[in-house]
Amino acid sequence: MSDDTNDGGVKQQKLQTPVGIHDLLPDDHEYFTFIKKVVRHRARQAGFKRITTPILENTEVFARGVGDATDIVSKEMYTFEDKGERSLTLKPEGTAGVVRSYIQHGMKEWPQPVQLYYIEPHFRYDKPQKGRYRQFWQIGFEIIGESDPALDAQIIDLANRINEDLGVAHLFSIQLNNIGCPKCRGKYKEDLVNFYIGKERSLCGNCQERLHNNPLRLLDCKSEDCQILAELAPKFDQYRCPECVDFYTKLKGFLDELAIEYVENPKLVRGLDYYTGTVFEFWDKHQGAQNAIGGGGRYDGLIELMGGPPTPGVGYASGIERIILNMKRENVTVPSKDAIHIFVAQLGDDAKRKCLPLMNKLRDRGIKTVGALGKASMKAQLRLADKFNVPYTLIMGITEVREGVIIIRDMAKGQQHTVSMDEVVEKVAALIGEENLDNYSPGEAIY
Ligand code: AMP
Repeated sequence: MSDDTNDGGVKQQKLQTPVGIHDLLPDDHEYFTFIKKVVRHRARQAGFKRITTPILENTEVFARGVGDATDIVSKEMYTFEDKGERSLTLKPEGTAGVVRSYIQHGMKEWPQPVQLYYIEPHFRYDKPQKGRYRQFWQIGFEIIGESDPALDAQIIDLANRINEDLGVAHLFSIQLNNIGCPKCRGKYKEDLVNFYIGKERSLCGNCQERLHNNPLRLLDCKSEDCQILAELAPKFDQYRCPECVDFYTKLKGFLDELAIEYVENPKLVRGLDYYTGTVFEFWDKHQGAQNAIGGGGRYDGLIELMGGPPTPGVGYASGIERIILNMKRENVTVPSKDAIHIFVAQLGDDAKRKCLPLMNKLRDRGIKTVGALGKASMKAQLRLADKFNVPYTLIMGITEVREGVIIIRDMAKGQQHTVSMDEVVEKVAALIGEENLDNYSPGEAIY
């Protein structure tokens, strides 16, 4: 961090965003807007409705939902006490809040399954690096209320289609596993812990901790020594109960039917406690789990764990910043909606008075318009028009006000002609082209 000296000679530190937290600047917003559009479109097509849960939840929501023993809850949450001494947490992931909302609002009474999606910021005290931040945005989908492998296939398909629409699907492979239900997982966990007992010293510090409170995570640890041991550890395949085998086989059949390629990965477990049965992740084909773009799975025990009636669910979440990184890596460009059509330059107060309503008329017609209403000289205004890179500038001086006309200047050709104020909006619309106008129609509301 660098220092600045203010006028009084007092050293001041430059104000910056906190470590691992970034501004979303206009350039990234073009990607952001495009991604949101794709997500909303695909969600609507498949009958998902949007939900926004609060950025702050009672800490208990995540402690119970995500699990005390997970990295997220034990190490990565932004937790603080409010003035009423209640423990609150900035949400580190989306599913627990959605499930809390499902229970709180009695969504069990809605037609099932309830299909919800969200586009929201999340917060994790993670180790910042490329693609890993402390505030990041996720898109997420949840289907709550029914358990069927066809729903799992549908959510994987939806995630894959969104990645296809965004031009990044080919960079990722779908890793798939079924981590069983409490019935078959109990015995497996026991045998897994027994396998590691006596080998603790070969495990990384994290895994030594996890061995007794979250042993499945030992399977997907990135440390080299832990990976070697994980290869030798008992495999879950032999432990899966007949119901889980059947569910997994049907899911793979549905994915084949949808022509979705996947890789069976018996070591994939995901970092959250609530998963049961299906888990999946979209892994970078070259960097593996390191740069995963999204992941999800089934959480049939979560609603009950959080105080609701036994209700199954399945979900998926993907990181928007990671999607943008990959779109840029693939040179995917998105349509820029921000390019300005018209710059309005004026001289004198009378012209300014005429230009203000004119700018509104132009904008109402879908013509993106800016004016340098604070700038005095015509030269300064035209310089600014150049910076905006507009195709046309409208110019009004004292003579034009008197005659009820305005000048249209073609910026590329340097040519200009005069038109009457009554015709100018339609003349400009014709020059820009109907198909390029930014027409805004919110649909009809009834007042
Ligand atoms: P997870 O549920 O932890 O697998 O997260 C789902 C997706 O969210 C990941 O695949 C990433 O795309 C994204 N994500 C998770 N944590 C971060 C982070 N700290 N910074 C940026 N993106 C993240």
